[in-house]
Amino acid sequence: MILVLSNNYSHIKEKLSEAGLKVTHQRIVIMDSILRLDNHPTVEQIFDLIRDANPSLSLGTVYKTVETFVNNGLLSKVSTNEGQMRYDPKLHNHGHIYCGNTSEIIDYYDEELNDMILNFFKKKKVNNLKIKNITLQINGDKIDPEKDILIK
Ligand SMILES: [Zn+2]
Repeated sequence: MILVLSNNYSHIKEKLSEAGLKVTHQRIVIMDSILRLDNHPTVEQIFDLIRDANPSLSLGTVYKTVETFVNNGLLSKVSTNEGQMRYDPKLHNHGHIYCGNTSEIIDYYDEELNDMILNFFKKKKVNNLKIKNITLQINGDKIDPEKDILIK
């Protein structure tokens, strides 16, 4: 059986153009790998995924490209306790649960929690601050590393 991949990367080309970036093969490959990894990857993880198929790409190039994506609003940075920079293609308002013992970052969003924080700041009468967004990061360890974290 021959598996034909019909992915023509049109969604990625569109993203790059909308961000005002030139559409290059390199940028497409790097953005595609970030979307496929879907785990808030590090530059090294991105590089590992694409190096075999793209031997001319260096780790430095991946790093520079990812920073360009951040500067043009295509990715946001997530820092971890280990001081490792991770990258997030999901740009909607959400928080993270970071598991120190498994290095997982789990997306988390709760309207009720956001409202509670906003109300808290309102009640405390914080002066001279306009809150634009709330990015909450909860750091912890998985109790059983083999199991998923369940949020009710
Ligand atoms: Zn995220």
